Parts: sequence; C-alpha cells; structure tokens
Amino acid sequence: MAIITRATLRCPRCGKPQQAEMPVDACQFFYECRECHEVLRPKPGDCCVFCSYADVRCPPKQAGST
Ligand SMILES: [Zn+2]
Repeated sequence: MAIITRATLRCPRCGKPQQAEMPVDACQFFYECRECHEVLRPKPGDCCVFCSYADVRCPPKQAGST
C-alpha cells in the first residue's frame, strides 16, 4: 500500500488550505500557517497536526497499526 506524504492542511484560524510534506517516520505536533502564522497543534486524541487538519492521515497511521 502506497503511503501519501503530501497533504493539504486547512488552517482553522484563517481557513487557508496549504500543501505540506509529512515526515514518514514521525508525528508532527506543530505547524505554522503560512498565511496567518497561527501555530497549529493536534486536537485532543489526534497524534499530529495532519490527523487533525489535513485531508489525509499521517504516514504512521496510514501504515496501519490500529
Ligand atoms: Zn492561518
């Protein structure tokens, strides 16, 4: 199964979608919006900003351990 490493995050503050490259072997906790410079953090229960705000889940989740 192919792992997607390019995700589109949508900033919850300004609503601006933006492309980001996901690290394949780690969870990324912080992401700074390129538009409004809000620093995004994961929502409660999510492992990383991509699971919370992007259109695809992070590579460790895609790889499929529960
Ligand atoms: Zn923003």
